[in-house]
Amino acid sequence: MRKNIVAGNWKMNTTLAEGVKLAKDVNEALKGFTPNCDVVIAVPFTHLASVNAVIDSSKLGLGAENCADHVKGAYTGEVSAAMVASTGATYVILGHSERRQYYGETSEILKTKVALALENNLTPIFCIGEVLEERENGSYLEVVKKQIEDALFEMSAADFSKLILAYEPVWAIGTGKTATDDQAEEMHAFIRKVIADKYGAEVAENTSILYGGSCKPSNAPQLFAKPNVDGGLIGGASLDAESFMGIVKAF
Ligand code: PEP
Repeated sequence: MRKNIVAGNWKMNTTLAEGVKLAKDVNEALKGFTPNCDVVIAVPFTHLASVNAVIDSSKLGLGAENCADHVKGAYTGEVSAAMVASTGATYVILGHSERRQYYGETSEILKTKVALALENNLTPIFCIGEVLEERENGSYLEVVKKQIEDALFEMSAADFSKLILAYEPVWAIGTGKTATDDQAEEMHAFIRKVIADKYGAEVAENTSILYGGSCKPSNAPQLFAKPNVDGGLIGGASLDAESFMGIVKAF
């Protein structure tokens, strides 16, 4: 059975001290109750080891927001999947639209990043999603299908089964404009069918597909009630422990 997951994406926010405090607050809030979902925080590289030291990894998963597309060596400023894993992190967000848009990440690059993440026992949270123009011109299903096919469909079924997918309509990220629960469900059901057609019904049924895009405590219950929405990737609302926990409690 697939898992429900709520994952925070802190992006380029918080100093080290602020990040450790936020992680401690989320960790504290998780004490004494068992959520109906896995909870993960993806934090800046600089925070990984320090955050790992203050959280209970049995209750709160830790991830990076990216990793390099090379194993090691002369790539100044890059951080490898092995380095991420060495901090104690076990997840990595890959293919976020901000990485695609601002850092030129293509499906070819992402293919390599996913492979390196898996080699280092990191669980990729792989993001896909259309821009506003593609939503409005009606090509959004095909666009997302192609993103999945191009980056992921050379994988074996066994490797594909290790992924978490996150559908993030770019027009909803950080805009306060959320996809409706029906829009999210349409896309999530479609993604599951695309996976089923390639890898079979069992792999598709077992793949967690998260929704991301201005998800908040107020709209999470409606989104998470949809049968194909298995949780959320949360940006802005993950920067406040109370609002993040409000979303965790939506399950
Ligand atoms: C994100 O960037 O992954 C995201 C979902 O951001 P926000 O929740 O702020 O829209």
